[in-house]
Amino acid sequence: MMIFANKVNKTYESGEITVQALKQASLTIPGQKIVTILGPSGSGKSTLLNVIGGIDRYDSGSITIGDQVLEKLKDRQLTEYRRNFVGFIFQQYNLIPTLTVEENVEVGRELSKQPLEMKDILLKVGMWDKKDKFPYQLSGGEQQRVAIARALIKNPQILLCDEPTGALDEETGKNILRLLKYVNENYGTTVLIITHNQGIGEMAHTVIRMSSGEIVDTYQNEQPIDPE
Ligand code: ADP
Ligand code: ADP
Repeated sequence: MMIFANKVNKTYESGEITVQALKQASLTIPGQKIVTILGPSGSGKSTLLNVIGGIDRYDSGSITIGDQVLEKLKDRQLTEYRRNFVGFIFQQYNLIPTLTVEENVEVGRELSKQPLEMKDILLKVGMWDKKDKFPYQLSGGEQQRVAIARALIKNPQILLCDEPTGALDEETGKNILRLLKYVNENYGTTVLIITHNQGIGEMAHTVIRMSSGEIVDTYQNEQPIDPE
């Protein structure tokens, strides 16, 4: 599903201070690609992900996802869009501690109109044999696999990942990146990954660089390198 942003602006007011988190941000992402968003802290990466994912509204400009123009959607329609088209992965997994692996993934399934099969997804992410465990019984890498399953079971067109390996050691992080690449290749999901790790940038088809709310560079990677 094609993602198209045209001159998107977003400001945050906090007390006396106004922060322009996105300045005239424009980009075109063809469907079924892996895209990484690089840039220093505070450069607008999360804000960009949140407006594409329908978590936040923007002040002006336009975002088109497939045939949906986000600024034209009413709140209820934006919620529908978010539930059915978008999966989110965060640095801190955000699993519900009182629910088992399977129950956490069920939360994602219930929100969607066209969910995938529970067993199939848990097998794909390598967590079927731990489906009855609770989050505290799992390693960080395993918890992130569950979070990916919860997002993936909705069969989203777009997977938005905000520092998905930020809390993991290098080897575990690479395993998570391999899983995201697998998802992209086997489900045709567009995967957007925020990172400040230059190495992760190499695996993407498209690399976007942000600085002070602006998209300062977009380049296509002819030969994305696998996280080895
Ligand atoms: P990044 O993801 O690159 O670290 P963010 O998109 O989180 O950048 O933030 C961009 C700018 O917007 C920063 O200056 C940040 O402090 C500000 N910002 C982000 N969210 C809020 C918010 N909810 N309220 C006020 N300012 C915010
Ligand atoms: P990963 O590489 O996936 O992060 P680790 O090397 O951290 O995995 O953990 C290895 C194994 O130890 C995992 O299979 C996990 O089930 C188990 N484990 C890790 N932390 C805990 C914990 N707090 N309680 C029970 N088992 C744990």
